[in-house]
Amino acid sequence: MSDFEGLKALVTGGASGIGRATAELLAARGAQVAVLDLDPEGVQKPLLGYQADVGDDESVRRAVAAAVADLGGLDVLVNNAGIGAQGTVEDNDDEDWHRVMNVNVVGMVRTSRAALPHLRKSSHAAVVNTCSIAATAGLPQRALYSASKGAVLSLTLAMAADHIREGIRVNCVNPGTADTPWVGRLLDAAPDPAAERAALEARQPTGRLVSADEVAGAIAYLASPLSGATTGTALAVDGGMQGL
Ligand code: NAD
Repeated sequence: MSDFEGLKALVTGGASGIGRATAELLAARGAQVAVLDLDPEGVQKPLLGYQADVGDDESVRRAVAAAVADLGGLDVLVNNAGIGAQGTVEDNDDEDWHRVMNVNVVGMVRTSRAALPHLRKSSHAAVVNTCSIAATAGLPQRALYSASKGAVLSLTLAMAADHIREGIRVNCVNPGTADTPWVGRLLDAAPDPAAERAALEARQPTGRLVSADEVAGAIAYLASPLSGATTGTALAVDGGMQGL
């Protein structure tokens, strides 16, 4: 199947986990794919790697311009880069809030702002944001992270309304706990990683974590012409944990 033949895609945070699985899937389905990441060292051909910090506007503008020039245009933007935060509102100070909101929310605004002039020229323009079940689940010990993903959900709906008449669709995916290097790092930091993993798996009705490939599949669907009439939606990829 070659849903993405001739299409050009940019994936932020595409050097690891969900972003990497997405970049590889889009490329396997025929897209030319650029990866924008803090650390693009491991990005391998046919993917193109660009160093950028989505937390910094100048860096984003430079990397998006370079990627679009090399690709020769842009049809798909996957806003995936994000960072975590644990704790209640009493555990995170203002600096934490500014840092995480700057990357998780304003980062998606920056890449979208840089990409929109190029997406307008595409006859198949799609933006997919990686949100989270944390946006609506009310997870304990995740006040800052949840608020940042709640903002991503609202941003997705607002962008969908603003840009559909320009032919640009905007959707998001809401993964549950996905088996990525990020979650691996969290487990490694736990006193008993195996017990922690078992507890996370037990939380899932499927009895297992979501795979990065399964999230990538949902992102690819929302980015592809197969979802051509869909905009302003959040697709849960959570093994039945919550839905929306
Ligand atoms: P990951 O840590 O495996 O990969 C994240 C990638 O983003 C890394 O390559 C990292 O270098 C890059 N990145 C981080 N900050 C960046 C920045 N400022 N600028 C550019 N690149 C940056 O994480 P993952 O689990 O694949 O998570 C990807 C996305 O999925 C995040 O938005 C996360 O919030 C979301 N998500 C993850 C899970 C999960 O359980 N893993 C669940 C729901 C949502």
